[in-house]
Formats: sequence, structure tokens, C-alpha cells
Amino acid sequence: MRTIISDLSEAALRGDWGPLLEESDKAQGKHWAENARCSGRDTDMFFPCGDGPQSEPMETVERLGLSLVRPLNMCADCPLTTAARCLMESLRDDEEFGIRGGLIASERSALRASWQERMDGGAVGRTLRGSTAALSKAERAEAIARFAADSTMDANAVARGLGITREYLLKLTRLHRKKRRTDLVAQPVQSIDAA
Ligand code: SF4
Repeated sequence: MRTIISDLSEAALRGDWGPLLEESDKAQGKHWAENARCSGRDTDMFFPCGDGPQSEPMETVERLGLSLVRPLNMCADCPLTTAARCLMESLRDDEEFGIRGGLIASERSALRASWQERMDGGAVGRTLRGSTAALSKAERAEAIARFAADSTMDANAVARGLGITREYLLKLTRLHRKKRRTDLVAQPVQSIDAA
């Protein structure tokens, strides 16, 4: 049976991100969208009015009806690898609006929330060793926190894993340490307020 993009997004929604990430990783480089079915088409149809992160998905699909047929057919016809990368890019950028990877914005809402909260220690560990991996916001923050707490880590490898420059990594590390100090100073005040 042929795997389709909805199989991958449904598995991700159940917490199994592996198939979607593996497929997305096959679409390497900056030119991944060249084979997209929507490439060079009018993008307005991918932003239907009245669909947003707060909308109720089933009611939205019913209400928008025929206007969704064309863009969703294009997504269904898009090469699986391209569609997977398209969906992952939208999750990484936390895009609230628009159709991506065959999902309208309201359908993508739960997946976005799930991605932002994902915490895969293995992916963080691989990143710290210099392998590029797709990380959620929580995983990126964890990688920075672990790097900031361990002076023996190789900054070049961690920067490579995160896909940023060494200088930017060091800046993020300084900001993390500063925030941590601020949080620690604020703690007793919060405790007094709570008492
Ligand atoms: S999945 Fe849909 S929105 Fe994404 S690249 Fe393909 S056709 Fe375009």
C-alpha cells in the first residue's frame, strides 16, 4: 500500500514522529520545493479565508467545501518527500495559517502543539554530537541548556547540529545563562508572594 502524507501526519499526531521526519529528511537542501505541485501556482488558494488555528477543523472543512478541493488535491498529488518537508517546515516555523502538507491550518493546530512540546532526548543528544536533526522548540532549548551546563562540549559540533554559527550559539548560551540567573534571583520573591 502506498504511503501518503496523511499516514505520516496521523502517525505524528499519535506521537510517532519517525516516519514524517525520515521522509522530510530525504528532501535535502534549499531547493526542496522545486518539485512541489504548488510551485509557481497562485498561492492565495492555500490561504482560505475563515481557516485559522482557533477554527474547528471539521466545521471549517464543511463550510469551505469546494474551495479546498483544488489545493488539497495538489497536496495529495505532491511527491511524498516534498509534502513531508513542506509540513515539517511549517511546524518548525510554527506557521499558524495556510494549507501545508495536505492539512488546513485548523487541522494542523494539534500537530503544531504536539511538535512544540516534543522532547526526544535522542534527537537532542545527536544534535549535541554535531548531527543535524529537526528539533522542536523545547528540544532546541534543552540542547542550549545542556551545552551551557557542560564546558567540555565541542561548540563547533553543537553549532553544526543546530544549524547555526558558533558565534550565534555562544550568544544564545549567554542569553540562556542570563535568564537562568534572573530566574534564580526571582525565585525567593515568588516564594514569599505565594506564602
Ligand atoms: S504539500 Fe501542498 S502546500 Fe506543500 S509543497 Fe506540496 S502542494 Fe505545496
